[in-house]
Amino acid sequence: MDLTGSSLPTPLQELSNELTRNAGIRLYIKRDDLIHPYVSGNKWRKLKYSLLAARESGATTLLTFGGAFSNHLYAVAAAGAALEFETIGMVRGEDYALNETHTLQFCRERGMKLHFISREKYRLRTSANFLSELETQFDKPFIIPEGGTSDLALKGVGEMVEEVKNQLGFQPDYFAVAAGTGGTAAGIMAAHADVLAFSALKGGGFLQKDITKLLTDVPDYGRLTFYTDYHFGGYARWNEHLLAFMDKFKEENQIQLEQVYTAKMFYGLFDLIEKGNLTNATIVAVHTGGLQGLLRR
Ligand SMILES: *Cc1c(COP(=O)(O)O)cnc(C)c1O
Repeated sequence: MDLTGSSLPTPLQELSNELTRNAGIRLYIKRDDLIHPYVSGNKWRKLKYSLLAARESGATTLLTFGGAFSNHLYAVAAAGAALEFETIGMVRGEDYALNETHTLQFCRERGMKLHFISREKYRLRTSANFLSELETQFDKPFIIPEGGTSDLALKGVGEMVEEVKNQLGFQPDYFAVAAGTGGTAAGIMAAHADVLAFSALKGGGFLQKDITKLLTDVPDYGRLTFYTDYHFGGYARWNEHLLAFMDKFKEENQIQLEQVYTAKMFYGLFDLIEKGNLTNATIVAVHTGGLQGLLRR
């Protein structure tokens, strides 16, 4: 894996249809899905400086956290293998040990050691005590938080904002992103740009607080508009309606979305435009990747 980003800048493509034209919206899609085949979109952006810091620290092992469908675990397993780190994944839910998902199988194939922990234990993933226990247990690994979301992630995501500004020649009114941990949204805001964030989780209101917390030390960060009504039942849930939208989007734009994050964001975006809640603006929607998690139909 190339950390200098030989695939950058990723393309910025305009998406135009009757809906956007009537609303005076100029809509672009930032194709971060094309950065790397396994280290998808925003995960590459978020991991870049953590991986460089890990290397600099002399650590030989990366330890991180994720669910059984986590694009982040997948990305760390792939990046670790490519950059010759050992990797350890702390997986949420002991039940998945007997029922490994495609994502977890991929992680294992890349040499990641999986440790399944209960949902209660997983809640401790940011607690200083638990983290120091893990440091002792696994001989001082470089610990990357869930989703790769950390201060180092903000810097990597900020580079995406700079790319877009160079490509457009100006700063768009908004960046639109799907939110899981909120790290990507926070990174864009830290680069002084305004964000429309679409929660991929049910009851994602707490994410707004997490995002603000990540920005504690950042002066003059961009504004956030946070949408919680487009989760389609919650994280990794969807319905036929969403899948039909995804198919139509592909037919019209020749761009594949996936049902966990990016389809929900575009669905929400078009819904807001259709209802007249977004007009006369330039919006850059970020295709954050995640295509490894595309539902196999
Ligand atoms: C992880 C992920 C997100 C969520 O990013 P956060 O920074 O955790 O909010 C969005 N889209 C895709 C495709 C992802 O894999």
